Amino acid sequence: MRNKQQAGPRIAIVGGGIGGMAAAAFLHRAGLDVTVHEQAAALTEVGAGLVLAPNAVRPLRALGVAESALRRAVPLDWGWEFRRWEDGTVLSAERLDGVCERLYGERTYTAHRAHLLDALRSAVPDGAVRLGARCTSVEPRADGVRLTFADGTRADADLVIGADGMHSLVRETVAEPERPRFSGLCAFRTVVPAASAPEFALRRAQTLWLGPGRHFVHYPISAGAGVNVVAFAPATDDTEESWSATATVEEFHAEFADWDDRVTTLIKSGSVPGRWALYDRPPLPSWTRGRMTLLGDAAHAMFPFYGQGAAQALEDAAVLARCLATDPDAPDRALARYESERLPRTTRLQQASHARADANHLPDGPEQRARDAALGDADPLVGSGWICGYDASAATA
Ligand SMILES: Cc1cc2nc3c(=O)[nH]c(=O)nc-3n(C[C@H](O)[C@H](O)[C@H](O)COP(=O)(O)OP(=O)(O)OC[C@H]3O[C@@H](n4cnc5c(N)ncnc54)[C@H](O)[C@@H]3O)c2cc1C
Repeated sequence: MRNKQQAGPRIAIVGGGIGGMAAAAFLHRAGLDVTVHEQAAALTEVGAGLVLAPNAVRPLRALGVAESALRRAVPLDWGWEFRRWEDGTVLSAERLDGVCERLYGERTYTAHRAHLLDALRSAVPDGAVRLGARCTSVEPRADGVRLTFADGTRADADLVIGADGMHSLVRETVAEPERPRFSGLCAFRTVVPAASAPEFALRRAQTLWLGPGRHFVHYPISAGAGVNVVAFAPATDDTEESWSATATVEEFHAEFADWDDRVTTLIKSGSVPGRWALYDRPPLPSWTRGRMTLLGDAAHAMFPFYGQGAAQALEDAAVLARCLATDPDAPDRALARYESERLPRTTRLQQASHARADANHLPDGPEQRARDAALGDADPLVGSGWICGYDASAATA
């Protein structure tokens, strides 16, 4: 039901992950009428940590949820600390404390996904979130869009935002249906309690070990109570693509058995690891059709090698709400502006993240040595200015 302050189009969001919930929060804050339809019966973010670079923190600040989202986050002193797989030689390291605020006005944090989702959810009224609502069809109509759900219920909206992730149903209505690309890689994930983690891994650093065909990432989360570990290794495409699929510690260890002891110690100190297949999608030429648009992974799923998927979803949400709030009576124009502002940037990030898979996994040899030398010569923090410096709230006129 609309309340008195709400005006403009009725907006339905399919998917209540980080992107959908952020969009709902921004739209609600702009006084627009929005409902989130989430298939899960309860809101949960599985998987543990994620890195929030300044461009992800800025939208949280704009929404007024940064404090709660970051309450147990860890401000990083070192980001992108690249090390060699067999002996831990530092290839390059990005000093963040002090420098990050000076360059970008915000720090970089590691946060727990659940804390981020909770903070976003707190900015959306209860009545605007429908749980247990699995959307099964999206039907453009003369006067808007009709959504149908697995339980037989329907919802009519003037605008639909597909924030329904990598396997988006809305995307199939907006763009040519196409299966996500399998990467040939899987991701292992585990959390090591601080009490059993080596001191080295408790430093406020995002450390990335690069080796042939694989890389291994770790950083502290939850106010230092644990170490988030995520590692990428070759896989066949029958690996389950799910955050809840598991592997054994022995399987995880076998992939990194001849790596530096600090890596294998972390693997052995962790609980049963999650394992899932890694997919991405090529960039879309357009992600808006009529009164439907996409956001987050539904629009631009990317490999996690720049740690920017959730950040891009947060930026999308801020820009989309701003476009709609500025032009509530011309939603088609607002959606076109949203897409033209966002698509070039997310395309660039999709391409950059894809290319990093090859660069991170080079076999030892001349190309790897050239990569390592280039890493040592570059100033990664300045080099990532186009990523970290983006201010979603200033992005559209
Ligand atoms: C290993 C790994 C590490 C990562 N690390 C980082 C990082 O450090 N920093 C960062 O910024 N990003 C990171 N990312 C990326 C980030 O997790 C994603 O980009 C982000 O979660 C996408 O959010 P989303 O809301 O678009 O999609 P999702 O989180 O997939 O949410 C989609 C939601 O839609 C719901 N849904 C789906 N279909 C339907 C339907 N038919 N009807 C109703 N609801 C539906 C789902 O239940 C879900 O809640 C990482 C990703 C991976 C895999």
